[in-house]
Amino acid sequence: MADGLRIAIIGAGATGMAAAWDLVRAGHKPILFEGQAQVGGLAGGFRDENWEWSLEKFYHHWFTSDADVMGLIEEIGYSDKVIARGQKTSYWLNGKLFQVEVSLRHAPFLVWKLPLSFMAIVRMGLAGVYLKLTKNWQPLEKHTIDDWMRRYMGDEAYEKLWRPLIIGKFADRYKEVNMAWLWSRIYKRTPQLATFEGGFQAFLDTLADAIKARGAEIRLNTRVDEILIENEKPVLVINGEKHEFDRVISTMSPRQMLKMAPALVNMPYGKQMEALDSIGAVCLVLALDRQFMKDGTYWLNLPSTTPDKKQSQFPFLALVEHTNWMDKEHYNGDHLLYLGDYVPADHEYFTMSDKDLTMRFVSILPRFNQDFNPSWIRKSWLFKAPYAQPVPGINHSAKIPPLVTPLPGVYWASMSQVYPWDRGTNYSVEMGRRVAQIILKQDWQ
Ligand SMILES: Cc1cc2nc3c(=O)[nH]c(=O)nc-3n(C[C@H](O)[C@H](O)[C@H](O)COP(=O)(O)OP(=O)(O)OC[C@H]3O[C@@H](n4cnc5c(N)ncnc54)[C@H](O)[C@@H]3O)c2cc1C
Repeated sequence: MADGLRIAIIGAGATGMAAAWDLVRAGHKPILFEGQAQVGGLAGGFRDENWEWSLEKFYHHWFTSDADVMGLIEEIGYSDKVIARGQKTSYWLNGKLFQVEVSLRHAPFLVWKLPLSFMAIVRMGLAGVYLKLTKNWQPLEKHTIDDWMRRYMGDEAYEKLWRPLIIGKFADRYKEVNMAWLWSRIYKRTPQLATFEGGFQAFLDTLADAIKARGAEIRLNTRVDEILIENEKPVLVINGEKHEFDRVISTMSPRQMLKMAPALVNMPYGKQMEALDSIGAVCLVLALDRQFMKDGTYWLNLPSTTPDKKQSQFPFLALVEHTNWMDKEHYNGDHLLYLGDYVPADHEYFTMSDKDLTMRFVSILPRFNQDFNPSWIRKSWLFKAPYAQPVPGINHSAKIPPLVTPLPGVYWASMSQVYPWDRGTNYSVEMGRRVAQIILKQDWQ
């Protein structure tokens, strides 16, 4: 075993690369197969000509409490590249902008300005403090957000502020989501948000270089077509050829995994995978020649009122002005604006032409800046991901398939297994390293 195990990792996103980091350092030879032309998956970025930094295709930041990703960055020797900075988050309500803040110190002053009755503010404050302080999430997963928030926070604050946000995030699935999910968002969030110098793609490329330097291999533009089991060993089919491995870690979505490993379909494990729900995301990125949110808002939440997202007053959930957080100089002076939404994978946003979707999103911009003129747009990009946000229902912890699958030598580590935390690169790193440790601890001699 001097050469270590031959381990295939399907997907060079944060999960796959974090697993590779531990496996390669333990003397194994991971080979990462990545269907795209670059590493990074959903957290990856793109760079326009003349930009010094890359920009995430979908808005990304870390919380300063994201210990797993920060720990990995420290191990690869790049902690000095982490940039943590305060930012302004606002809420659009009744045609007005309200700054909101999650820090306990500031919350009472900002919440006070919201158009809510005294009682609603008090109940929201008490429920908010409880959620920020408790670590006991298990009882919360027995309730839906809709049920818990109405009961403890009260209908007024829930209806006016929170329900529209939850609809924004989960569309027609919003009534199914359990309260532990919302707890995790409130519990983990920090006022300062963090990124990597050069953007998330720079972090992911740096991680890729670190694992390659230790002997791992990354094969880009290489799609795995099938996972078979032959002679009790995993075999990958790539471009019509079979390749045998000692272990395979897949980081694909539940749907893709079931398609690629048909042997799972009729097993209880496969049924568990099939029951996992998720929704997609679309993100329009605009490079403007001037600042859009003049008050310096980085993140503007917009209320979504109809779960099917057809009649909502706004065609997207969040307006994020990246350059109100990071300096525009890194992007050759462009002001960068994301307009993003979460919608089911069968929503019309996934079939509309880029031009029509861009026009639908852009047409609403004068509501937030009445001077806005489309001539401000230098360039635009549209990104879509059908698998973007898992939907955790009641008692979700009992329904998550384990990282070890029933197929010999095959492991599955996906966003859908991140819990109770909301999916994110921090948890991809934690899960990637966890699956690597399972392999390392097994008797493979
Ligand atoms: C809109 C949006 C906003 C987000 N915001 C944040 C944020 O602010 N902060 C944060 O930390 N996280 C955020 N996330 C979540 C974060 O992007 C993900 O949790 C993380 O990137 C998941 O990593 P992963 O490696 O598990 O999966 P992925 O990134 O999906 O990687 C899987 C990889 O597998 C490859 N692949 C799939 N099938 C095959 C195949 N058959 N053969 C070969 N390769 C294959 C894919 O190309 C992909 O590169 C956000 C996600 C979205 C969609």
